[in-house]
Amino acid sequence: MVKHKVVTTKKSKKHYKVIIIGAGIAGLSTAKCLKENGVEDIVILEAKNRIGGRVWTDRSAGSPIDLGANWLHGPKGGNPITKLLKKAGSKGFKTNNDLIKIYDMEGNVYSDAQLDEADYYFEFLIELVEKNARSKTSLRDILAEKEPFALQDPLTKYTLSAFLEFSLGGDIKDLSSEHFYDDEEFPGKDRFITNGFDSFSHYLAEGLPIKLNQQVESIRYKKDQIKIETETEKYTADYVVVAVPLGVLKENVIRFKPKLPKKKQAAIDRLEMGTVNKVVLFFESVFWEKELQYMGITPPEKGKYNYFLNFRTFSETNALMTFAFGDFAIEMENHSDKQVIADVMAHLNIMYGKDIPQPIRMIRTAWKKDRYTGGSYSFASVPSTSKDFDLLAKSVDDKLFFAGEHTIHDYRGTVHGAYMTGVRTAKEVFSVEQLKKMNEPPSMIV
Ligand SMILES: Cc1cc2nc3c(=O)[nH]c(=O)nc-3n(C[C@H](O)[C@H](O)[C@H](O)COP(=O)(O)OP(=O)(O)OC[C@H]3O[C@@H](n4cnc5c(N)ncnc54)[C@H](O)[C@@H]3O)c2cc1C
Repeated sequence: MVKHKVVTTKKSKKHYKVIIIGAGIAGLSTAKCLKENGVEDIVILEAKNRIGGRVWTDRSAGSPIDLGANWLHGPKGGNPITKLLKKAGSKGFKTNNDLIKIYDMEGNVYSDAQLDEADYYFEFLIELVEKNARSKTSLRDILAEKEPFALQDPLTKYTLSAFLEFSLGGDIKDLSSEHFYDDEEFPGKDRFITNGFDSFSHYLAEGLPIKLNQQVESIRYKKDQIKIETETEKYTADYVVVAVPLGVLKENVIRFKPKLPKKKQAAIDRLEMGTVNKVVLFFESVFWEKELQYMGITPPEKGKYNYFLNFRTFSETNALMTFAFGDFAIEMENHSDKQVIADVMAHLNIMYGKDIPQPIRMIRTAWKKDRYTGGSYSFASVPSTSKDFDLLAKSVDDKLFFAGEHTIHDYRGTVHGAYMTGVRTAKEVFSVEQLKKMNEPPSMIV
């Protein structure tokens, strides 16, 4: 009988004062802030083979294409990342939502008067929902009751999708009529970043200790030292900052032992991750209006490739980026590349005729299927309450801390929100540590 030698590869064990899970903007800003305040014994564990999370720039086509965040929303009024983006070397331009042409399904262009009317009607609908909001009732349900025309009219459906579902992430049937818009905005016209939003994540990450390909599987936090396990390594820490997306918490990718407090878990269950997907088509030559920033079309299916961003307004790249919003964004993740191209081209054929060239390349996202994200950004879903984002932010036992865009009620779903949660969380860890030091008995002198 041949005897086999069993070789067990033992996981190594390392201790840090603070372990931060997730190298997205929230995790990076936590670590940067801790380091700047003298907390050096830290490490960031990141599941993917890159940093940035939902700030993700694809450079495979030569020019930078942002597959996650692209706009700096509200650059004025003290937005904390405006200056930092400058320091990071970001370039961009003020978006002008008026530089748009919208087509109907017969290829006719909506007039300026029709577009103005649609804008007013959209504002009217928002006020109508706010006035008639009820708990456990969706925005769509309120519209169905009070203004059913809005759900049928193609141009109104376009505004509900390209304005509302895009900015909030969720489908109108899932948005809480009470809380959908109860967040805050910084003032100023949005800036579109043209040289890649990843310059911001790389700026924050400078000099930080980051371990890639480290998917955290479990966190045991009962004892003084917190135990963390990844597929390949074991770690211990005095404090842990969980800066993974809401979608990851919802899918229980990380096992917490003991389980998270009931109130926190209930908030995780109630809030939702919305999905917005991007499709970028590259062409040999331009067949659309070079001067327009955006184009639109009003298909019967809500959220289906109805909004286009023109790369030629800010670069030499012959590309159009289109989007999928709401339920359609989840559905299209199961479509083949061939179908996606055919569906987008069907819209472009209506807008620019049958003789336009076929794309030479496509890049597409699937944020819902991404195991380490589980959607695009969090939103106030029908069963949620306005306190749920605050519950997600609450630390546990002064040991587990939580950061990420889903932990800030007022600025959820944004890069600046994610950044702010990192600063907040670093302060929390710092003050708990200071307090602990103050309460330590003085060392005995014998
Ligand atoms: C398509 C799209 C468009 C957007 N557009 C804009 C925009 O124009 N402007 C704007 O302000 N915001 C926009 N956003 C939102 C913005 O990108 C996010 O709010 C922000 O980047 C979230 O940062 P975060 O650090 O909270 O999370 P993330 O960036 O998701 O970082 C979390 C990190 O945790 C890692 N992770 C997950 N699970 C584990 C695990 N088990 N172990 C270890 N690591 C793990 C992930 O890989 C990820 O790197 C957009 C998002 C998307 C998807």
